[in-house]
Amino acid sequence: MTMKEYEHIIQGGTYITMDPQYRTLEDHFMLIDAGRIVDILPMTELQDFKAKAYTDAADCLITPGFINAHSHLPMSYFRGWADDLPLHIWLKDQIWPLEAKMLAGDFVFDASLHGAAEMIRHGITLTNDMYFYVDRIADACSIAGLRVIVGEGIIEPEYLGDLSVFKRRVQALKDRYQDNPLVDCCIAPHAIYTCSKEVLKACTTAAAENNWMIHTHLSENQSEVEDCLKHHGERPVDYLAGLGFLEAHCVFAHGVWLDSEEIKTLAQAKAAVALCTDSNLKLSNGFVPVKEMLEQNLNLAMGTDGVASNNNLDILEELSTTAKLHKALNHDPVLLPAREAFALLTIEGARALNRAHDLGSLEAGKWADLCLIDTNNLQSQPLYNPYSHLVYSMGSEQIRDVMIAGDWVMKNKKLQHLNEADLIEKAKQYKNTIISKMES
Ligand SMILES: [Zn+2]
Repeated sequence: MTMKEYEHIIQGGTYITMDPQYRTLEDHFMLIDAGRIVDILPMTELQDFKAKAYTDAADCLITPGFINAHSHLPMSYFRGWADDLPLHIWLKDQIWPLEAKMLAGDFVFDASLHGAAEMIRHGITLTNDMYFYVDRIADACSIAGLRVIVGEGIIEPEYLGDLSVFKRRVQALKDRYQDNPLVDCCIAPHAIYTCSKEVLKACTTAAAENNWMIHTHLSENQSEVEDCLKHHGERPVDYLAGLGFLEAHCVFAHGVWLDSEEIKTLAQAKAAVALCTDSNLKLSNGFVPVKEMLEQNLNLAMGTDGVASNNNLDILEELSTTAKLHKALNHDPVLLPAREAFALLTIEGARALNRAHDLGSLEAGKWADLCLIDTNNLQSQPLYNPYSHLVYSMGSEQIRDVMIAGDWVMKNKKLQHLNEADLIEKAKQYKNTIISKMES
């Protein structure tokens, strides 16, 4: 009998599985076929299996790929355009005029390609993205090999004057990506303050009809909550719940100003909050009540937000800041310990995006989305506890290889489907275009 030949075998290293038992495995190998994890087995059984390709993971941590629960990929070219401003001035005087002059399909595609490359370098294997021209975001991610959930950012009046147009766009998105395993779609109203009641209601209907999740910004700053109370007579979560939001799976970006009742309501509805710590800190929007959210078992995940407010896509750094910040704010060094923190980037991130059944941990049957992180360096030694290093000491530059759906998208720190030098050159050219358009 001939021996079955699998696609990949990864051997050696330490497997940080993030499975329900939080097992870490040494002296094991991983069998991968058809883009999925077949099994993780003891090295003593290696001779019973054969693969087309072998990867030596000695001195590496093998972790699930990192999950980014809130991003705006096409904002890559806006990095550093305007800093040190309050959110409403930053948006109104800087970002929205910039978008009005620059937004076009090709711009979105090029900037998304740049962002996708950067995400892969930082170990991100799935991003939940909200913006415009989302078909071009999905095209860019497919070329990069990055898994993406796209949601057309719905802002009135440009994007949703006529509900039949909205319906057609949702259907077109669905038709276009139904056979692409890297692309999923969701419904993404921008925020309460940019959408009418009718539009938000239409979003819940569309989510139900397509069985899609809803992704939106929620309670990012205090004035949003005050506005909602003033215009709708309710706090944001009650307002959205009344419109049927919580009947869908929801992921809310920010959640800085949620109160105790709102946290309880969201936890009961099994909704999720994407923590965008760097963006909240930089725009000075406040501090998320993380301690209370954890006590209420609210599903938390990590998001980078766009690079215009972050200003990078280093989600490992973002996690480290988050873990330390909430300890300090609560005078509680025990809060959000390393393993629990790392779960936000992996299995909890998958849960937030309704993908815990096939992503977020290294388990048989799940997609082979993973990172190999080199520990043979000064910064990583000695290594007593891998979770400690992942959250408190490692940097993204230690990420050596990244695999998405069984495809090496980065190998030995080299992107496999994109030319990094070309991307850098293109970004430099766009800088000149942006400056001259904004001056004219
Ligand atoms: Zn955002």
